[in-house]
This record gives sequence, C-alpha cells and structure tokens, in this order.
Amino acid sequence: MNIVIAGAGIAGLSAAEAARSHDPKAGIVLFSAERQRPYYRPRLPQVVSGEVSPDQIYVHPEEWFRERSIEFRLGESLIEVNPESRLARGSLGSRLSYDRLLIATGAAPFLPDAARNFKLPGVYPLRTLLDATDLRHAARKARTAVLLGSGLLGLEAGHALTEAGLTVHVLEMSDRVLPFQTTPRSSAKLRKILEAKSFIFHLEAEAERAEGAERLERVVLKSGAGINCELLAVSAGIVPEVSLASALGLKTERGIVVDQFLETTSPGVYAAGDCAQTPDRRGGMWIIARAEGLAAGFNIAQADPAARKPYAPPRPTAVLKVAGVDLTAVGNIDPEGKLPAAECEEGDVYRKVVLSPAGLLIGFTVLGTRNGVAELTGAMGKAVPGDVLEALSEPGFDFSRLRDLRLPD
Ligand SMILES: Cc1cc2nc3c(=O)[nH]c(=O)nc-3n(C[C@H](O)[C@H](O)[C@H](O)COP(=O)(O)OP(=O)(O)OC[C@H]3O[C@@H](n4cnc5c(N)ncnc54)[C@H](O)[C@@H]3O)c2cc1C
Repeated sequence: MNIVIAGAGIAGLSAAEAARSHDPKAGIVLFSAERQRPYYRPRLPQVVSGEVSPDQIYVHPEEWFRERSIEFRLGESLIEVNPESRLARGSLGSRLSYDRLLIATGAAPFLPDAARNFKLPGVYPLRTLLDATDLRHAARKARTAVLLGSGLLGLEAGHALTEAGLTVHVLEMSDRVLPFQTTPRSSAKLRKILEAKSFIFHLEAEAERAEGAERLERVVLKSGAGINCELLAVSAGIVPEVSLASALGLKTERGIVVDQFLETTSPGVYAAGDCAQTPDRRGGMWIIARAEGLAAGFNIAQADPAARKPYAPPRPTAVLKVAGVDLTAVGNIDPEGKLPAAECEEGDVYRKVVLSPAGLLIGFTVLGTRNGVAELTGAMGKAVPGDVLEALSEPGFDFSRLRDLRLPD
C-alpha cells in the first residue's frame, strides 16, 4: 500500500502516525509546503512573546520520522494529482504513484480588505512559524500594534504582543470581546482585565484602510478615526486551503466535503483537519485536527474498505485560557439574556448559569477561575430548583449542592 499525504500539520502528521501503526509495511510519503518539521501551532503566540524559541515547539525530533520509515518531503508542496492514474507530483519534481491520498492542507488566515490592500511592510497574519518569527522581529521595533479580531487566536496573539511590551489596539466588529464565548457582562469583565494588560478595545469597529509612505504608519477606521501604529496583526478567521482538492474536482463547500470515514467525493482520496468539512462541521481546533488525522490515517491504511471505522468527533475542551485568564463557556450561554439565569460577579470572577424555560441547566460560563466548572458540567441537562438558581447568583455558592440535582423523568 502506498500512501501519500499532502500537508504535515497535526492532521497530516497524526494520519502518518496512525497509518504506520496499522500497516508496518505501507510506503508513507509526507509532503510539507513548510520548511520546518511539524510544530505545535497553538504555541506560536509564545514564540512571538519570546517565551519559547522556535526549536522548542517541534512535535517530534528528526529521528521520529526515520524510525517509522515515514518519508518526509520538507519544503515540497504536492501540486498535481491525477486520480485516474493515481499519480501525484510535487513542486520539487517528485513523482509518485499512490493507493490512498490524504489531503491535510490546513487553512490560511483570512485577510480583511484593509490588510489585504496594503502592500507595504507592516501587516502580519499569524499562521506559520515564519509568521511568528517575522512578527516577533517586527514587535521588537514597535510600540503600538493594531489587532484585527478579538477571537481566541487574536487575543492570544495580542497577549503575546503586550508581553513583548507593545500597546495593542483591538478592533472588533461585534459589541463584545471574544463574541462567540462571552455574554455582555463577561465581555465587560474580560475587557477590564485585559485593559490592565495594555490592551485597548474598539468594539463595533472596523478597519477601513491602512496607510503609510514606506511602511505602515496608521490604521483608519470606518468611523474615520485613525490609530497610529507600526504593525497590524491580523486574526480575523481562516480560509480552508482547498486548491489541490478543487483542482482534483472534489466537492468543496466551507471545506473539502468528507463522509463519516473522512473520504472525499473521490474514492481513495481522504481529507482531514482545517481543510476538511466533516459531517459535524466543526473545525479550526488542534484536538479536532488531530482526531481527524488519526481517524483518516487508520482508514487509509485499510486494504479492505469494510474494515474502516467512522470518525467520532472529540468533545472540544471547554476551559480556555484567554491571554492568561481562565474562561469556560459550555452550551447555550444566552448572550441576549432571554432565558432564566443566575449571574454572579465577585472581584475578577464572573459566572452565568442558564436554564431552559423548563428549568433544565442548558449552559454556563465561568470567567477568572475554574472553581465550579466540573460540578456545573456534571449538572448539564439536570433540573435546577428555584432555591438553587437563586443561591447560584450569590458569591460563595457551595457547588457540592449541584451533585444532588437529577435528570428530568
Ligand atoms: C496562532 C494560532 C494559535 C492557535 N491556538 C489554538 C488553540 O489554543 N487551541 C486549538 O484547539 N487550536 C488552536 N489553533 C488552531 C490549530 O492550530 C489548527 O486547528 C490546527 O493546527 C490545524 O491543523 P491542520 O493539520 O489541519 O492544518 P495546518 O496546521 O494548517 O497544516 C497544514 C499544512 O499543510 C501545508 N500545505 C498546504 N498545502 C500543501 C500542499 N499542497 N502540499 C504540501 N503541504 C501543504 C501547510 O503549509 C501546512 O504546513 C491555533 C492556530 C493558530 C494559527
């Protein structure tokens, strides 16, 4: 069995690992457009802040690939595939025949117009190790940055820049910081905590254009206001990298469409990670890309298609670290405030517990601590009596009370 994998991020790497452990004899060739060995992408902000050096974030040492007979084509993209003859061609001239092909080409950062249209130095997306070292060098000479986007990755990148000594202006189109994980009150609290760490937030704000004579000097907002800055960091979402898949004629929507076995619309061609659109449509996360890679690796190593296993998505971890602050958001946190809920603030800690109209716990968020998270998670779906809901809005709530709650009959 000859297996060819395009992309050596965590999805491609995990697939190679799984395929090798299920087929010790298969030929496995891993193409990587990047020149570095696979690394922990979520640790890039730490490279920007200088907390770790690039060589501390590699997933495996060089020997790992040799010991597993995984042939690694570093710095070579897979550029052409002929699904009829099952031939693949690399950008440095490799020509290979394959029995199974896995596309694990990841994603590219989405660049809003203001960033994309500015052609001089000063605009920095953060996706690759090269991006991180570029941003680190730029940060050394800068005092003020503008950051497009206050999602999780954006705030991590912003945190790295504040750690490197910069003041960071965050432009966020929504009226909340970290809009997918906060309510108005947790957003306000998070904003206050982060403002004490050299963040300045501009909510309901959008960049109109970037300006500068020889390099970036200013970002002008749609409101007409201008922010003088030396660098513009961009974290405004991702675009799945589907060009190889499109050239092959595979079905793509928000990503490369795959079935429960992670097989694309072309038999023998699979896709996993940020480039793929699985039936559950989740993505953009490390543990998901790894789980998909492992599942795809197992399936491509099966000579008999009946031996394949359907992919079971992992539960994404609910406890996040946002710029050094703990934040958990589970289920429906009802940012519009339409459902019965208990909210409580105490110092830098905030929590909100949301019930369905029938009184069942359907979501919660906790900021600034992990206390109570395990108990609240265990109480999801259970009926919460009125006196417990009332007590949940008081500081010092005894979370062991949640252990007595029961699922509805
Ligand atoms: C700064 C940052 C912080 C993050 N933090 C978190 C976090 O805290 N938690 C979390 O869950 N997730 C986080 N993520 C997201 C997570 O890192 C990604 O979901 C995950 O890395 C996706 O892995 P992947 O293998 O699908 O794609 P990628 O890691 O993008 O790898 C794809 C690889 O394929 C290469 N490639 C593309 N086309 C070709 C081709 N034709 N031939 C060969 N190679 C090709 C690309 O160059 C790339 O190296 C973060 C991401 C970033 C950028």
